[in-house]
Formats: sequence, C-alpha cells, structure tokens
Amino acid sequence: MIDLPQVVKEAVSVLGKLPGVGEKSALRMVTAMTKWRLEDLQKFSKATGSLVNLNECEECGMWTDEKICSLCLDPKRADANVLCVVEQVSDLLAIEKSGQFKGRFLVLGGVLNPLLGIGPDQLRINKLLDIVGLHKTQVVVLALNPSIEGDATCAYIKHVLPNEISVERIGFGMPIGGSLEYLDPMTIGKALENRKSF
Ligand SMILES: [Zn+2]
Repeated sequence: MIDLPQVVKEAVSVLGKLPGVGEKSALRMVTAMTKWRLEDLQKFSKATGSLVNLNECEECGMWTDEKICSLCLDPKRADANVLCVVEQVSDLLAIEKSGQFKGRFLVLGGVLNPLLGIGPDQLRINKLLDIVGLHKTQVVVLALNPSIEGDATCAYIKHVLPNEISVERIGFGMPIGGSLEYLDPMTIGKALENRKSF
C-alpha cells in the first residue's frame, strides 16, 4: 500500500474517530477537504475547536449559550410533572422533533458501563434526583436506548428514585441495540405514546 503523507494520515485518523466513520469514509472526507479553500478549512478548524467551550444547561444538560437552557426556562415545561430522561443531547433533539413530548428533560450523559468505568457519579443521576424533588415530578419517562447497559441504567434509576414516582420506559418500535437519534419522528412519537410502567 502507498504510504500517504503524514498530514493526510492525521486528518483521516481524526475524522475516523467520528461515529459511523470508518477509514474509507474518512479518506473520502479528506479528499473532499483537499479541494476546499484555505478560508473554509480555517472555518472548519475554528468551528470544531470552539466545541471545547460548549456549555451545558445547569438543570438538564442540554447545550446552551446561557446558564439555563430555553427548554428549562419555558414556563409551560417548568410546571410539567413529567420528566423524560435521555442518554445524550442528540436523543433529546430527536424527541423534540417528534413534537410528542411537552414535559421536562434530563440528559444523563451516557449509561452505566462498569467496563468503561462509567458509574452513577459519571452520569447526571444526582441532578435527576434534585430535579425530581424540586419540581415535584410525578412521572419519569426513561427514553434510554435498548441495550444491556441501557437496561441496567433504567433498573438503577428506578431503584434510586423515590417510590411514589411512577417510572415508565419507552420501548414500542425501538429495535434492540437501536439508537433514538436515528429513529424517525413518527416512530419516536409512537414509542412515547406506548410507554410502559417499568
Ligand atoms: Zn435545561
């Protein structure tokens, strides 16, 4: 195989870290980017570099330019007694797009995974308990992806939440190992409609 220049190797290696991007796709992206003007390459590098300053809402973990995000500041949602727990921001966005959920959100930041050293302290579990207490939540909807880790995380959350809170999980139409962010809004809407007590 031809030995590629170091700059190309480095760019392929960095882009290959993105989800769903293998070496082949990364090489295609790099090929396209070699045709960009300097100005666009600089814009790309600035935009990705600025992500280090991305701020998370102190309440729910959603991305925001402020301390508290617009979802948490929405008075209609602030009063909602239903809280939807998701793994990551992309899942929250997918549910928002479905337009089927009008309650509060909490972005957990992942799922429990002892092999990767992710325990309750690495997730926003304490924040979840704070919010539930503060906003008098009655129903917690677990919109975690169906996987061994997702199931274990749901069981853990159910265990740490006060008994009087009703815990439900979405599931209908969600393939095992599937990811919320890739589902179409209609399937997500159905999954929210058909949530089951957990
Ligand atoms: Zn928020």
